[in-house]
Formats: sequence, C-alpha cells, structure tokens
Amino acid sequence: MSGSAAPTPMMAQYLALKAEAGDCLLFYRMGDFFELFFDDAKLAAQVLDIALTSRGEHQGVPIPMCGVPAHSAEGYLARLIKAGCRVAIADQTETPEEAKKRGGSKALVARDIVRFVTAGTLTEEALLEPRRANVLAAVCEVRGTFGIAACDISTGRMELEECAPDRLGAALARLGASELVAPEGLADAPAEAIARPARDFSSDHGEARLKALHEVATLDGFGSFTRAMLAAAGGLVAYLDHVGRGSLPLLLPPVARAGEAHLAMDEATRASLEILASSQGGRRGSLIEAVDRCVTGAGARQLADDLSAPLTDAAAIEARLALVGWLHADPLLRGDLRAVLRAIPDLGRALGRVVAGRGSPRDLGQLRDGLSEARRIHDFLKGRSERPALLDALLPALTGHGALTDLYARALVASPPTERAQGGFIAEGYDAALDELRRISGDARRAIAALEARYRSDTGIAALKIRHNGVLGYFVEVPARSADPLMAPDSGFTHRQTMAGAVRFNALALHEEASRIAQAGGHALAAEEAHFEELTALAVAARHAIAATAAALARLDVAAGQAERAAEGGWSRPEIAAEPVLVIEGGRHPVVEAALAAKGERFVANACTLSPQDRLWLVGGPNMGGKSTFLRQNALIVLLAQAGGFVPAETARIGLVDRLFSRVGASDNLARGRSTFMVEMVETAAILAQASERSFVILDEVGRGTSTYDGLALAWAVVEAVHGVNRCRCLFATHYHELSRLAESCEALSLHHVRAREWQGDLVLLHELAEGPADRSYGLAVAKLAGVPAPVVARAKAVLDRLEKGRAETGGIAAGLGDLPLFAAAAEQQEEVVDHLRQRLDALDVDALSPREALDLLYELKREAARLP
Ligand code: ADP
Repeated sequence: MSGSAAPTPMMAQYLALKAEAGDCLLFYRMGDFFELFFDDAKLAAQVLDIALTSRGEHQGVPIPMCGVPAHSAEGYLARLIKAGCRVAIADQTETPEEAKKRGGSKALVARDIVRFVTAGTLTEEALLEPRRANVLAAVCEVRGTFGIAACDISTGRMELEECAPDRLGAALARLGASELVAPEGLADAPAEAIARPARDFSSDHGEARLKALHEVATLDGFGSFTRAMLAAAGGLVAYLDHVGRGSLPLLLPPVARAGEAHLAMDEATRASLEILASSQGGRRGSLIEAVDRCVTGAGARQLADDLSAPLTDAAAIEARLALVGWLHADPLLRGDLRAVLRAIPDLGRALGRVVAGRGSPRDLGQLRDGLSEARRIHDFLKGRSERPALLDALLPALTGHGALTDLYARALVASPPTERAQGGFIAEGYDAALDELRRISGDARRAIAALEARYRSDTGIAALKIRHNGVLGYFVEVPARSADPLMAPDSGFTHRQTMAGAVRFNALALHEEASRIAQAGGHALAAEEAHFEELTALAVAARHAIAATAAALARLDVAAGQAERAAEGGWSRPEIAAEPVLVIEGGRHPVVEAALAAKGERFVANACTLSPQDRLWLVGGPNMGGKSTFLRQNALIVLLAQAGGFVPAETARIGLVDRLFSRVGASDNLARGRSTFMVEMVETAAILAQASERSFVILDEVGRGTSTYDGLALAWAVVEAVHGVNRCRCLFATHYHELSRLAESCEALSLHHVRAREWQGDLVLLHELAEGPADRSYGLAVAKLAGVPAPVVARAKAVLDRLEKGRAETGGIAAGLGDLPLFAAAAEQQEEVVDHLRQRLDALDVDALSPREALDLLYELKREAARLP
C-alpha cells in the first residue's frame, strides 16, 4: 500500500481503535502478541527496551511496530505505567474460526478495546505497592469552588471534598494521586490532569450514579455533599466507566472530607518536611519511614493518610491519642495484638480484586483468614477493661462475618491457589457430587497404576511405563529395543509414536480409564467454577461490612504501631491546648536522630516555647549548627500530634494549628534545579497571604537567594509582616545578624541561636539552642571545618577584618535602619496620605470647575501623589 491508497482492512480497524484509545498506547492483539504501531511503537520500544521493527506501509512510509507476548503482558504493562503511560487493550472478541464463518476466508477477526490500564485504576497485586494507597482523583469547578473526588479502587475507598481556589493546591498535594482527571478547558487544572468531556462532571449525574451504585434513595446517610463534590464524583465515576468499558470496580460509599477538618499544608510544605518521601524521592529518609511501625500494608497506608491529613478537631485527636496511650501503657497486650495483626492478609485489596471480577481462590482464602482473625482480635480486646472510646467504636466492625467465614472455611482448602483454571480449591466434604467426581478420577488413577503392573507382567517388559503428557494424554512407553512384540497386530497395543530411544502405545483399558479421568475432571472443574461464583457473590454482597473490618484493623495497626514507636524512642503523649502555644521540652527530629543513631552519635534535644507573648523566634548561629533541624522538628511534632500520635519530645503542649507552612531559602534547593529566588518569593507570598493567628510557620534562610542587601531587606520586611499582620507562631532561621535589631521594635519576637564554640582553633558545633542573638558568624570556622585550604581561610580572615573595620566606622549595612518607622506605622502612614487624596477627590464638584481649573487641580493632585513613599 502506498501514496493515497486506502489502508488495508486491518489497518483501518487499527486506526479506528486507536482513535478510540485517544492518547493511550494501543495494545493490538494479533495471535499470541500485543502489537503496537506508529508513535506508540516508538515510545514503547524505548521505554521497554525492545526491538522496533516495521510492517507494511501507510501513506507510503513503513509502519513502525513492536510487540510483547500476550502471556507476559503484565510485566510490560507495569513498566509502561511506571513510565507515565496509559494503555488501551484491544483484544480479539471472536476466534479466527468464528470470523471465517461470519465473513468468509478473508474475514478480519473482530477486535475491541476491552480495558484501559492506567496508573490510577490498577488492582493487580503485582502492580501495586503494599504500603501505599493508589489514588485516582477527579477535580472540577462549580461556581468558583472546586470539587475533588478521590478513590483508591484497590480498596474501594472514596472521598469527596470541596475547597476554595487557594486551597486546591494543598488538597491535591495531600491526595498525591497517581492519576488525575479534569473537565477539558478547566483553567486551573494541574498540568498532568487528563482532560475528560465537561458533561461528565455534572452534579445531577454524579448524584444519580452514586445513589444507583449504593442502592439508596438519598446520599444523606453517607454525609452531606455539595454540588461541587457531586460534580467531581460524576466525573470520577464516568472515567471509571470509560476505563473499565462499563464494568465498575469496588466503590464504597463516599465520605465527605471537610477541608477545615484537616491541617492545611501546601505542596512546598509537604516536600520540605519530607513527610511521605525524602527530597531524594524515596521513602528512605522521610518522616513516615522514621515513624511507621505498622505490621500490615493496610496500616501503613492508613498511617500515610493520617500524616498527609492531620486533624484540627481536638476531640478526634484526643480519641486517637487515647487509643495509642492505652496500647502504650500495656506492652504485653500490644505485642499480642501486633502478632495477630502481622499474620492478617490485606483484606481491603483482596476485596477490591474480588469485587472487580479479578479475584482468585487465594483472595477468597484471604478474606476467610482475615475475617476470622478480626473476630479473634475482637474477642481478645473485648475482654479488656478501661477500653478507650475509639476502641469501643471499632470493635463492632471486627465481627459479624461468622456465617461467611464458616462457609468459606468449609468450602475452601487451607491455602487456595491463585489460579482457578486447574481447580483444586474447593475442600473435601463441601460438595458430595464434587467429591464423587474426584473419587472417580482418583479410582481411575489408581486403576492406571494397577494397569502398569499388569502390562509389565503380561508383556514381560520390566521397563514398561505408563506416562502422561499434554499432547498424547496417557500412553504406554517401552524402550525401542523391547518394542517389537507390542507392534504385533494382536498384541492389544496400538502404536502412537516412535521416539529416539522409546516407542509409545495406546491400549484399550488405559484409554477407558483415561477417559474416565478426563470426564470426571471436566465436571469437577465446572463444579468448582460454579462454587467460586457463588462464594464470590457472597463477598460482593458483604463488601461494605468487609471494608469496614479492614478499616478497623488498619486503625488498630496504626495505633499499635504508634505506641510501639513511642515506646522504642521514649516519645510522649502531647497535650492539645486551646490557646496558640507551642511548648516543647526535649524535642527531637525523628529522622535526624535516627540517622545520627545509625552512626553512633547522639541527638541534642532542644526546647521551644512559643506563646502569644513570644510567638516569633529568630534563630541565628553558624551553618551546620542545627537551625534547620530545630525548625523542622517542631513542625513535625505539631504534625505528628495532630495526626493523633505520640511525639519525639519529653513533653509537648500544642495549641491546635490550622495551617502549617515550611519554607527553605532558595539556594538550599538549587541542586534540584527548580527552586529559584522567584519560587522562594512566590512561596513566601503565599504564607503572608494565608497564615492566620492559628498557623505555624517555619522559614529557613528566606531571602538568601538574592544579593545581601535585597535579601536582608526582604527578610526584614517578611519578619515584620509575619509578626505584625499574620501574628502566627513562627520560627525564622537566618544568618543576617542585622535582623537582631527587630527585637527592639517587635514585642512578641525574641532572639535565639544555636551554640558553637571555638576550641583550640577548631569550631565545635553544640547543636544546642540558647537565648539571645548569635554573637558572631562562624563562617570562616565552618569553611576551615569543611577543608578549605588554610591560606584561603587566612586571606578571608584578612578581608573580613577590613570589612568589619568598615562596618564599625559606618555602622554597617544596617546603619540606616535606626530611624526606620515601624512596619505597622509605615503601612498606616501610607494609607493616611492616600486617604487625603481620596478625600479631596470625594469632595470635588466636577461640574463647578472650569476646564482651566480642572487642569490645574489635576497637576496639583499629581504632585501630591508623587510625594507618597
Ligand atoms: P543549619 O540549618 O544550621 O545549617 P542543620 O540543621 O542542617 O544546620 O544541621 C546540620 C547537621 O547537624 C545535621 O545534618 C545533623 O547531623 C547535625 N545536627 C543538627 N541538629 C542536631 C542536634 N540537635 N543534635 C545533634 N546533631 C544535630
């Protein structure tokens, strides 16, 4: 085919399917392979590192092609998904024989897209990480507010949220979705969002789908949902419909998340606090790695969720803390509980596969084992005294599956296989007819064994064997040298195959027994298949209750893990206070402490005592002195406490925080190549716009991404604004000594520094926080510590002496700041003058002015405006 020639029928079919697949790669089934063509082939060949070939021509050019074997497609899919691709699977929907019957010998086999495989819609155990949720999210806008719907289809969890435009970034950052969809044309959609038809995002449609899905007349029983939430839900379900080609995965009733119920943290804060991943990208070195002592994957996923969305409701936090405290106080109980939990399979994910129609006998076995163990945990905890309220709330969810587990226990073998094609998963004694079929094939097998002995004695060939393979079924085999007697027409054996050293025969009695085995085996398989369907249907019907059990187990695991972590590290239960304080004694940074411990070094604990009268601390001191660590440890302690866990401190009294901000000056991040001074300022602007009196802000070396004068000036103004306008609790690390002078004008600001000492010419960093300004900069000593050659350090010392002399004479770079008006006063002053202008304009009767007077007045007003600062 070349030039303008019409495409071949196959290519026409391919192109039609590709048009349907849109921007997904199209896996086009041809025999035992999935083939990819055109740009899909080029991309896949590169990602998968497989050979790119070509096939035929399209419009005069060879068509690039590559392919993967259908039986091992899963591994290739996993790699493509990891690389950010989405894949449409176009399978044959009829056999070649059927096609021939339908349309003659040249007929093309019908193909259709049977499924889309995308990062957010995986259920396969092999493609999922056990300790991480896999979130698919949809976002849309309804009259100025955003609706977000998110689900993890591997467990069916679904939540809906509404947020103002300024919280959208934080809300999406919290979810960390692996796939996001948005209506096409949504202006604020994140770059990675997949555009879907806008009509999918209709609140009426969303509401109707959810009601139908959960068979309820109203959603009120699940919570109260806004139009924006329902519209996002509509978009999410429509996308799942599209991806699953009409078959929906497990979706549990939606939960409404109120934005204010969670400590707001934007993306920059999450990244800088390294909550779920370190700045290198992995779990190593992250907060969760230092905290997670969960013994189940579901617990670890719940903990990640807790740390991503700490609470702001004191009662809910206290409820979690009480459960952790209860388990903390009783190490034996905790140990027993954790031992049982450890053996529990991942109920939620097994259920997800079963409901999605991709369940295996093993998944049913996991439901049986998990649900029975849940019951054991229930009985064991129920007998305990002084149970915390949260535990009492969880206990009922752990039972109630008796009928199901009893049935599964009778129906399934002890460890059912992952494949159901070969059968063998239904237990003896469950179905008499099945047992009979098995007995028949068992008898026949024994009969075959007996036949072997008989044939040996009848023929006198001791080396005679009865064997079995997939092609021939059962057959008699003798060595070639003994084969002749059996070749005789009346031997009772019929020749089937001659091999190099052996000859194979059939025999009547053997054939009969083999048929008995085959027939009984076929019936047995069909019977097992029917049982599998019934057993699956029971789990599907009980899906909500099973999911509730899984959630309760996960919560218990989180609490027991937190208690374990606390016991291990001497952590304490935080006290939640109403007033905006942050009083931490003996606080530590869990990640840095663990890293030091691994090297056999000790972490120096530090206190932080912020209160309404002393809510902004400037922290100075040498580089490497521990400023960043101190800032972050306090932010992490707040986060851990509000997530409902113990904290790495001797004592902690924490006034609830509504928003947490963490910022690091630009140059720290330059290595990552994305933070520039511009980003630093954009992020700082967000804090100044959003931090409230209930917020907690840590600012690390803000202003250092630019020249000294600019940086100092900005740092100065930012501190003043945070102190005077935002009035939040704030720790501000800086190496600008000049900022110390702010202590004179800002009444709720105090000066602190990390201590260092020079000892025998060497710098000793004590990592200990002390009051007062840093007495001097240890820049040169740090340089020496870092191995800068002695002559260079000496030269720098000479330059420094000159500079300091100059500073002493002129008053230094901050010399002019002595008579700077206070921040608030400066802002007011400006406002007054503007008001004066406004007053004059207000009072003006324009009709009464002559053109000449109007012009003069304009000149005058302009002169006045020019005098404004
Ligand atoms: P700065 O922000 O002042 O440059 P960092 O907070 O980055 O300093 O700390 C530098 C290093 O000092 C850390 O990597 C850690 O090894 C060590 N360090 C920091 N704080 C402590 C502490 N409280 N106790 C012991 N070592 C600490």
